[in-house]
Amino acid sequence: MCFRFFFFFFQVASGSKLVSGSMRKNPTLICVPIMGESVDKMVVDMGKANASGADLVEIRLDGLKNFNPRENIKTLIKESPVPTLFTYRPIWEGGQYDGDENKRVDVLRLAMELGADYIDVELQVAREFNDSVRGKKPEKCKVIVSSHNYQYTPSVEDLSNLVARIQASGADIVKFATTALDITDVARVFQITVHSQVPIIGLVMGERGLISRILCAKFGGFLTFGTLENGIVSAPGQPTIKDLLDLYNFRQMGPDTKVFGIIGKPVGHSKSPILYNEAFKSVGFNGVFVHLLVDDIAKFFQTYSSNDFAGFSCTIPHKEAAVKCCDEVDTVAKSIGAVNCIIRRQSDGKLFGYNTDYVGAISAIEDGLRGRLNVSGGVSSALAGKLFVVIGAGGAGKALAYGAKAKGARVVIANRTYDRARELAETVGGHALSLADLENFNPEDGMILANTTSIGMQPKVDETPIPKHALGHYALVFDAVYTPKITRLLREAEESGATIVSGLEMFIGQAYEQYERFTGLPAPKELFQKTMAKY
Ligand code: NAP
Repeated sequence: MCFRFFFFFFQVASGSKLVSGSMRKNPTLICVPIMGESVDKMVVDMGKANASGADLVEIRLDGLKNFNPRENIKTLIKESPVPTLFTYRPIWEGGQYDGDENKRVDVLRLAMELGADYIDVELQVAREFNDSVRGKKPEKCKVIVSSHNYQYTPSVEDLSNLVARIQASGADIVKFATTALDITDVARVFQITVHSQVPIIGLVMGERGLISRILCAKFGGFLTFGTLENGIVSAPGQPTIKDLLDLYNFRQMGPDTKVFGIIGKPVGHSKSPILYNEAFKSVGFNGVFVHLLVDDIAKFFQTYSSNDFAGFSCTIPHKEAAVKCCDEVDTVAKSIGAVNCIIRRQSDGKLFGYNTDYVGAISAIEDGLRGRLNVSGGVSSALAGKLFVVIGAGGAGKALAYGAKAKGARVVIANRTYDRARELAETVGGHALSLADLENFNPEDGMILANTTSIGMQPKVDETPIPKHALGHYALVFDAVYTPKITRLLREAEESGATIVSGLEMFIGQAYEQYERFTGLPAPKELFQKTMAKY
């Protein structure tokens, strides 16, 4: 399914790309799920939700122990500083309530009578429920009729039929939650949301569905859920309210907000959203930067083909496949064979691929060498003539090998898959090694080592691509991994007397150029340094 025509609806002509900072740009509400086992705990959490900026709280009655409906609901409504949504989810719809069905529905009717602002009723029982309260429903109470699919996300046609059934059951607000098996599933939910004539909550569960919970503010969703703490979720994939408000700048999103994101797998560790959103905010740029957990990059671009999806960073393992997805590829990226930055030209929707990876890394390595040798920058690079060993032959490996060669270094590639090392060595004019041979590779002192594999990255921080005893011949060691900032490789290299350069330097360096391509504005370099210094 192509997304281009559907999103055209939203390409509001805006004279300026910049938006002012303080106003709320969308009506989408943020609801914090409250799931304590006791009313006291729930009351405390409702206070926290209010302090965090929640618009309402979802009180999950099915988690309560020793539940006394009338007394507890009265207290919860009285004590809540924000409007309340009551949910009493049965096991058959993914909740915890395992008792008599009539009693459960009676409790929902009671919450309505006692002053709840919203009641969540499952589609399966909604018609009966709505018939039973007809004429008796308090004016202020709205009924959310919900449907949950924990297996997959249906087709647009099936989702439309589902929405029609929910509406026909007497819903004031339609809610459906599906499961993302692929990030492109979310596009169908956006399509339904954006065309809905009634207030609608369309969310896609799981890590691949995360953008549904963020971009619903752009596409007109009625509400999203934001948790108080990481991992304390009422449905899989919910972000924290802090991330919604501070990281994604949720209140500032509108129909004309451009979407940027980092495409990768895994991708949750990436600090790119922190960096770019902070920078967008600092200059009032009307964009949001999200994590995009992508399995198939070609399918991703076929699906999200509208101008709304304006720019992308690209990381493991998609940098090489990304080359084929672009309409045009910059000559440097072409020779490296990998793209880490993709821009959608707004005039015709064409995709342009670039490689900004090696610039940051190579200049940080040059600086590190000059510092070690105590020399200032001359005409020739500090890398000229040096033996430069690259571990890895993927996107980052190619970029480093290409960059080092361009600076006059002699390049050696060591890779787990030897054939890929050989191929890259042939392309850049270097030598190839297998990863196993690296341990005994010591033709001279003063070599440079650059790890471009993900070995040592969180959570496997105890791993390293080369044993410590083999590090003695290196003058400088660089690690592309930047979570953690100091990897085991860097720690052992420093202990062995080498100068170390962290992946953070590469990350910041490559980000400057991407930011300028994304926004057409100069990168706020000091802000980048400051933001990343916190990590
Ligand atoms: P990629 O294209 O998928 O390449 C991955 C490379 O790592 C391949 O050479 C692969 O070897 C090797 N590899 C992966 N797991 C391995 C293992 N367990 N043992 C041995 N070798 C292994 O990925 P990429 O985009 O180049 O990224 C690689 C790393 O660099 C990631 O950790 C990424 O976060 C980091 N990075 C950092 C920055 C930065 O700004 N600091 C920028 C780009 C990338 P095979 O060929 O045998 O599969």
